[in-house]
Amino acid sequence: MGVPFLDLKLQYNLLKKDIDEALGRVVTSQFFVLGPEVQALEVEIADFLGASFAVGVASGTDALLLPLRALDPEDGDEVIVPAFTFFATAGAVWNAGFTPVFCDVDPHTFNVTAETLEAVWTDRTRAVVPVHLFGQMAPMAEIRELCRRKEAFVLEDAAQAIGARQLYPGARLGVESSDHSSLSLDEADSSLGWMMAGVLGDAGAFSFFPTKNLGGFGDGGLVTTSDEEFAEKISKLRIHGGKQMYHHEMVGTNSRLDALQAAVLRVKLPHLEGWAGARQANAALYDEILGDVPGVAIPAVMPGNSHVYNQYTLKAHQRDELRDYLSKRGIGTGLYYPLGLHLQECFSALGGRAGDLPVTEALTQEVMSLPIFPELSEGQVSEVGEAVREFYSG
Ligand SMILES: *Cc1c(COP(=O)(O)O)cnc(C)c1O
Repeated sequence: MGVPFLDLKLQYNLLKKDIDEALGRVVTSQFFVLGPEVQALEVEIADFLGASFAVGVASGTDALLLPLRALDPEDGDEVIVPAFTFFATAGAVWNAGFTPVFCDVDPHTFNVTAETLEAVWTDRTRAVVPVHLFGQMAPMAEIRELCRRKEAFVLEDAAQAIGARQLYPGARLGVESSDHSSLSLDEADSSLGWMMAGVLGDAGAFSFFPTKNLGGFGDGGLVTTSDEEFAEKISKLRIHGGKQMYHHEMVGTNSRLDALQAAVLRVKLPHLEGWAGARQANAALYDEILGDVPGVAIPAVMPGNSHVYNQYTLKAHQRDELRDYLSKRGIGTGLYYPLGLHLQECFSALGGRAGDLPVTEALTQEVMSLPIFPELSEGQVSEVGEAVREFYSG
């Protein structure tokens, strides 16, 4: 029968009444940019995450760019980013005035680790951007420890990971666990508490692009931080570098969040946990159907992580043939990502070469993502899972 890779209409239809009402409220007010709707969203998201401050901006890309720019880079200062991520992670580093330095990732979780970061460290390294790829957090305790020792800034790229959690040592008991599928750490250990993606770095970046777990009706993003002065600086940078109109302390940009986006996101936020649960249930069913299939590796979840599956990403032998096979049956798949960032044409002056980052380069040949959105039925997930099984048995 076929299964789409993503169908956003289902979620809109479910919330149509509330969303249309919220949009109507903004239209009636004619208050379209920042204002009370955006402030309310900032408070609600900060509450949800356990963050001290949240600043709405125009996109996830800007949520990375503004904190980096706030560090006032000097020529030659470096920021380490994974080569296996969406382009924006590195693009923001470049546009902020830093030199991106690419590191490799763990072959099972696809995330950076303290070890992969340290492997490319230099005395010009000012910051690192761990990406919580596909909805699973990078190991923040060891990353924080490394960056504390080296006095580097940590900017979490949580664009794909809103609501993802990690058991964290010494957590000032953050939030409750949502999913219980991945607890091999001793949860009774009272020195560990669940902390959300985006509150363990010096700053966190979120995206509300429509395909993210919390998606608006266009572009949007948000920066989190526990440092009041830093939050203040971000909120200036998003409106041309000054709080007072026509007085500019620094050169910022226009990166304001629209009230229409905030209104939509405020309707959706209370549903986010339920949607994460549905994504986890879909993932568990795929795991069950595909766990013993030779030729595929199901996503690995690090002990102490609660994965929110913005993507369900397999490593698959004959990946391109499998995608063709599924496509002929009307099953949509995704390919994140087909080329490491160290090998992108725009970064060729940085001197990246094939062979530099072997895990990233292998993953770009092996990975593919299956439909995982929360509104999928059990029947649809089974149909996709069984089709993958058949490909390998046929
Ligand atoms: C989506 C995404 C971004 C950028 O967000 P936009 O809202 O599209 O600008 C940054 N990093 C990662 C890992 C993403 O997936």
